[in-house]
Amino acid sequence: MPHIILGGAEWYANLGTPKNGGTRMFCLSGHLNKPGVYELPMGYNLKKMIYEVGGGIPNGRSLKAVVPGGSSTPILLPEEIDISMDFDSVAKAGSMLGSGGVVVLDDTTCIVKFALRTIKFYQHESCGWCIPCREGTDWLKKTLTRFHAGAGVKKDIDNIYYLAENMLGKHSVRWETQRRCPPWRSSRSSEKNLRTIWKASRARLRRRQSRYWRRKICNL
Ligand code: SF4
Repeated sequence: MPHIILGGAEWYANLGTPKNGGTRMFCLSGHLNKPGVYELPMGYNLKKMIYEVGGGIPNGRSLKAVVPGGSSTPILLPEEIDISMDFDSVAKAGSMLGSGGVVVLDDTTCIVKFALRTIKFYQHESCGWCIPCREGTDWLKKTLTRFHAGAGVKKDIDNIYYLAENMLGKHSVRWETQRRCPPWRSSRSSEKNLRTIWKASRARLRRRQSRYWRRKICNL
C-alpha cells in the first residue's frame, strides 16, 4: 500500500500489462524447490515463475503439467507454459488465471489420481442445488475411482468428457449461481442459453397454469 501511495496509481498500473495492470499474489505450490506466495507483476512469464521464482523442480525431475489458476482451471502442458500470466494470455492458452494458485506437477504425478483427488473435493463441496453439479461431480468421482482402481473401460474417457461438457452451466435453472461457481462457470454464450431455457421453462409453466385454471373455471 505505501508503495502505491508514494508511487501513484499510474506507476502501479504500469507494473503490469496494458489491459491487466498492477501486481498479483501468486501462490506457487506442488513440486517446487521454493513454494510460497509471491507478489509479481501481472503478465510475469509462467516459465520464469516456475524455474526462477519457484526455484525449479526438485531432484532434476521434468515437468508433467501446470495448473495455472487454482484447481478448477484447465492444466497446461510443458510446451504451453511460455506465456504471460495475465487474464487474456492464459485464456488464449486455453485455461484461466483464476485465483493465481499455480500448482506444478512433475513427471512422477499420476494425472488420474490428481483428477480424482480434485473431483473428490468438488463433489464434497457441491451444495447440491444445481443438478449438473450435484450429479455430475458424483458420477465423475465414481468413474474416476473405478478408473484409478484399474477397472476403467475405454468408454469411460468419452463419458468423463460428456459429463464435464454437460456440467459447463448447461441445463440448469440456476445459471446465475453457476456463473459464480468456478468449476462449472458458464461462458457468455451458455449463460445466454441458460437464460433462454429459464425463460422458456417459465413460459411453459405459466401456460400450464393458465390451462389448469381455465379447466377449473369451466368445470365450475
Ligand atoms: S454449481 Fe454452485 S450452487 Fe450449483 S450445486 Fe454446485 S456449488 Fe451449489
